[in-house]
Amino acid sequence: MKRALFLDRDGVINVDHGYVGTKERFEFVEGVLELILKAQRRGYLPIIVTNQSAIARGYYGSEDFEKLTDWMLEKMQERGIVIDRSQVFHCPHGPDDGCKCRKPEPGMILEAANRFGIDLENSWMIGDKPSDIEAAKRAGVGHTHLCRKNEKIELKDLHGF
Ligand SMILES: [Mg+2]
Ligand SMILES: [Zn+2]
Repeated sequence: MKRALFLDRDGVINVDHGYVGTKERFEFVEGVLELILKAQRRGYLPIIVTNQSAIARGYYGSEDFEKLTDWMLEKMQERGIVIDRSQVFHCPHGPDDGCKCRKPEPGMILEAANRFGIDLENSWMIGDKPSDIEAAKRAGVGHTHLCRKNEKIELKDLHGF
């Protein structure tokens, strides 16, 4: 079974400018690509789990999200990170839709665990909101790190990683 590094997107991977739907507004948080690369070298599978209520709200469409995701993954791959579209899970619903994927619901993490055979107990979740951490705990992820929005994270900040 593989260990995973679950990452929230907005505020962890990219600077949270609010409903980021285009590459022009997508700015990687300092050091995040190095962090993912290091984690991958230690055997962690990177998996992105992101709430995208902007789709339900009509601020941008699924196609915009997909296009931006492809661009983001290309940038990651250019830095040596091994990742593809199957490692990105998003919830397109709104807060009142009652879905099972919007964090703090654990649906996206459980789906990823099922798809990749993840050892959740020995996996990590990094998020900038309590709902990220709650989703991880409800899914049974053993280790969590709540960072500040857009904060640079280093491996040494993850105690016991
Ligand atoms: Mg966030
Ligand atoms: Zn959802």
